[in-house]
Amino acid sequence: MTECKYYSFYALAKINDPEQLHEAFQQQIAPGHTDKIDIEVFQNSDSRWNRLTRSGALDQNIPEQILATLTQKFGVQDVGSWYYDSDIGGWFCSYKPLTSKHFVLLVKCSDPDKLIEEEYLQFLFHFYCHQLQMLQGTYRDALTGLYNRRAFNEKMQQLLEHSNDYKRRAMNFSPTVYVMLDIDNFKSVNDNMGHLYGDEVLLLLAQQMTDSFRENDLLFRYGGEEFAMVLMDITTEQAQQSLQRFRQKIAAYDFPNVDQVTISIGFTRFDKGLQLEELIRQADSALYYCKTTTRNAVHSYQELAEKKLIPAVKATKSPSVEIS
Ligand code: GH3
Ligand code: MG
Ligand code: MG
Repeated sequence: MTECKYYSFYALAKINDPEQLHEAFQQQIAPGHTDKIDIEVFQNSDSRWNRLTRSGALDQNIPEQILATLTQKFGVQDVGSWYYDSDIGGWFCSYKPLTSKHFVLLVKCSDPDKLIEEEYLQFLFHFYCHQLQMLQGTYRDALTGLYNRRAFNEKMQQLLEHSNDYKRRAMNFSPTVYVMLDIDNFKSVNDNMGHLYGDEVLLLLAQQMTDSFRENDLLFRYGGEEFAMVLMDITTEQAQQSLQRFRQKIAAYDFPNVDQVTISIGFTRFDKGLQLEELIRQADSALYYCKTTTRNAVHSYQELAEKKLIPAVKATKSPSVEIS
């Protein structure tokens, strides 16, 4: 049995990165035996089970046997229950933090001598779920559910500064395209229909984004009616096609009480060594080109700069300090 070190929960509480939280959680459960403990987190939203990956993304690929247990043993109402599955060889714990989401944690211990005491495990589970919930509140935009600006700043820095490290630790994919997207003439939607309809458009657009891009892509509400995305492992040509398809889908989408909503999109290659500010300025200048020409369009920074339709974004140097 593992000794319960309560002081360590305060340390856990300070962690504001889902990936680190996973690691810390494992170490708290069985310090020194983390290699023998395997933890999976499953989340039910809208009656669908997803696996919460270490990077905080949702993955729908759940092994059949586990999915069967989740579906059969843990109905939406069934929270706070425990179940030891001898076939899978692990504890399932169901918990519903204060919101609509329903979590199930699966803890497997490959060493029978190190079986974890149920009460201790339950306490950790509850703590962990609260932490996750708190994190989601901190990093998600309340209206759209996408990552918010704070998450943007942190994740982008992480991607740019530690792209190799990030790739190695968290997942087998890397950022390749950075996108900025802005609703066209959105002010007139608000002016004509009112803010509530405007909000509905933002929410529906965010849902379409979530449905249209891949699980591992990062989607942000950058601010107001502007969104940003990081697309993983995609060529410039594929990105152009996929963004064009998305633009057309939005133009054809039937938003309630609004005739038509169109979007303008600017994107750029996510080159290592770029500063965040340069990346944003590149995508933003392609977006600005859309706005000053046709709107309802997709443009690539590299293509526009090559054709000399926009000036090249120059690297920003930190101001030099003169010593007298
Ligand atoms: P453009 O095509 O040049 O982007 O024109 P635009 O009207 O979309 O751009 P502008 O920057 O003039 O106006 C943006 C509008 O977005 C103004 C603001 O009222 C609205 N907006 C920003 N955030 C929200 C929000 O959270 N809810 C609603 N309903 N409207 C918002
Ligand atoms: Mg706009
Ligand atoms: Mg705008």
